[in-house]
Amino acid sequence: RNKDRRVTQANDTPNDLAAFWMPFTDNAYFKAHPRMLVAAEGMHYTAADGHSVLDATGGLWCVNAGHCRPQIVEAIRQTAGRVDFAPTFQLGHPLAFEAASRLAMLMPQGLDKIFFTNSGSESVDTALKIALAYQKARGQAGRTRLIGRERAYHGVNFGGISVGGIVGNRRPYATLLPGVDHLRHTHDPARNAFSRGLPQHGAELADDLERLVALHGAETIAAVIVEPVAGSTGVLIPPVGYLQRLREICTKHDILLIFDEVITAFGRVGKATAAERFGVTPDLITMAKGLTNAAVPMGAVAVSRHVHDTIEGSGPDGIHLFHGYTYSGHPLASAAAIATLDLYVTEGLFEKAIELEDYWADAVHSLKGARHVIDCRNIGLIGGIELEPRPGAPTMRAMDVFRRAFDEGLLIRTTGDIIALSPPLILEKSHIDRIFGKLAEILAAVD
Ligand code: PLP
Repeated sequence: RNKDRRVTQANDTPNDLAAFWMPFTDNAYFKAHPRMLVAAEGMHYTAADGHSVLDATGGLWCVNAGHCRPQIVEAIRQTAGRVDFAPTFQLGHPLAFEAASRLAMLMPQGLDKIFFTNSGSESVDTALKIALAYQKARGQAGRTRLIGRERAYHGVNFGGISVGGIVGNRRPYATLLPGVDHLRHTHDPARNAFSRGLPQHGAELADDLERLVALHGAETIAAVIVEPVAGSTGVLIPPVGYLQRLREICTKHDILLIFDEVITAFGRVGKATAAERFGVTPDLITMAKGLTNAAVPMGAVAVSRHVHDTIEGSGPDGIHLFHGYTYSGHPLASAAAIATLDLYVTEGLFEKAIELEDYWADAVHSLKGARHVIDCRNIGLIGGIELEPRPGAPTMRAMDVFRRAFDEGLLIRTTGDIIALSPPLILEKSHIDRIFGKLAEILAAVD
């Protein structure tokens, strides 16, 4: 039967939506009301019916340099014709090394060893494994405990959901890592609603780590992982001093600190990393998304030289880190990464994000007082607008806003009843005006 199905062209509307089991999607609803994207350029998508959609979410927080940038497209094209694949197990190809060197130059001082993966989820699990390997290599094999945080999103693999704190992503899966504990999250609307930039209250929540150290013993804890700014859980911005305090406590107890920068790296908060923006240097940084402008899947973990050298220096010659993916440092992804990192620098996109930050913040906070809005928050080119949930139907009000916005030419993202905005960094003030003008209009119209 499968053989008889009509093969569709990329730009066609497929006649059969049954086979693709869509991720994180209400499949039945989508298949009854498909919203297809068939082309993209700059700040816009084109939908299947031909209407243009302004992208206020950079795809999924990943298209930081705007869509279909010719330099990136050309780099991928040329590489595909020259070297489609080359293993990086006991062999190599030059593009992977060049991509790693370029990426290392953007990282905070000392984090200059790069391990490549294919996604944010893989980066997280890789970082957790490196943390455990490091503790073992330095003779602290008892440090196996991993600490995450409530409401955290660290992707969907077993390590990531174990340290993660989004309950819906954890509860259906019984096989979570043992020995994991969680800090409390930092979201505190009672004290911090409508904060512009970093909220003032909550640095003391980092002391939760002291509580967990007292409970379990530092000698059992390998690493703490947090998102410097949490996105998928609904845009949670770190209180003033929180990340610094967490760093101090990790250092005091010799615990590794991992920043999950899958959404915050590559200019989203106006610098190459949130670590740089907030002046806090972790021991490992996980990345993906903006690394290749999302044109080819790729993730990475930046690792401190000390952690790397400890693992690589352990034991006799041979393999020291038993970990890797067939596609770690894939040629197409490496070529896309090099072209993307070049673009960020030549177009000064991180600086551009900083320049627009105030205008963006004013626009985000212009929705204070709009119907249903109970909080607005911002940092860099990130905006979070929290809506009062519909009684008895949480998430549905935000979902209605999302669907209406799409049909009226604006792509936003929602998580729970929170609208999350993360546009490509190439946007202009006129785009910001359109995004928030349209949102105000829709919020006034939805029930
Ligand atoms: N970590 C964070 C902080 C993320 O926001 C995401 C995705 O949004 C991930 C990990 C997972 O990345 P991926 O979907 O590429 O596996």
